[in-house]
Amino acid sequence: MKIRKNDTVLAIAGKDKGKKGKVRRALPDKKKVIVDGMNVLKRHSRTKGQARQGGIIDMEMPFNVSNVMLICNKCDKPTRVGYRTLDDGKKARICRNCHENID
Ligand SMILES: [Zn+2]
Repeated sequence: MKIRKNDTVLAIAGKDKGKKGKVRRALPDKKKVIVDGMNVLKRHSRTKGQARQGGIIDMEMPFNVSNVMLICNKCDKPTRVGYRTLDDGKKARICRNCHENID
């Protein structure tokens, strides 16, 4: 998947459009990501029995990777991700703006 854990991304769709955040988890099988502070669902939790906890819980919900763009850590701009094959045969992600390696 083009987006990985600890990447900084920009939301380009949905209610958090325009927000930036850090990827906390990438879910490649589902093509989804969980981003800090994005797509937060507020849940009112009920107090059960003697438990003292209750109130509002913030839950960060996974959302589609197609709704975010990677922010390049070199030029600091949202970019599409390209790939470059390194001398040792490994693939590295590159920024399509500045053509620097992202990894
Ligand atoms: Zn760049």
